[in-house]
Amino acid sequence: MKDVFCMIIAGEIPSAKVYEDDEVLAFLDISQATKGHTLVVPKEHYENFLECPKELMNKVMDVAQRIGNAQKKALGASGVNILTNVGESAGQTVKHFHVHVMPRFNDYKDGLEIIMKEQDDAKKDLAGLAQKISSEIK
Ligand code: 5GP
Repeated sequence: MKDVFCMIIAGEIPSAKVYEDDEVLAFLDISQATKGHTLVVPKEHYENFLECPKELMNKVMDVAQRIGNAQKKALGASGVNILTNVGESAGQTVKHFHVHVMPRFNDYKDGLEIIMKEQDDAKKDLAGLAQKISSEIK
């Protein structure tokens, strides 16, 4: 079954398009967690960032960067959060690789909260943890 972003790409359901080329589409997120919240997706289906071939991923990230700059210019954003969720545990709800580009504004209360709390138990062996990850980098 097609996911909702495949349906948007195919024109089967409407979206507010921000950018389009042969391989990449960007459109406004229906939730608008921040004003101008945009999703950037590859037209070809890949489940998430980690599974997307590098060349195409680079094209998606290039568009995300250009949209972030455009949000600053066009909307007067003072900052931008750029986020991609991989897997349900990370909050991914639509299984089609997408990058959230979310403009932020001074003195404007939006719907986006990102909280990073220190985890004492995870901090105990940073050298060991770094070595573990490092050993699997391809
Ligand atoms: P995720 O949680 O997977 O990282 O984000 C999926 C995003 O897709 C959510 O922010 C959600 O609001 C957005 N979304 C889901 N369905 C639709 C839709 O039909 N149209 C648009 N424009 N956005 C959608």
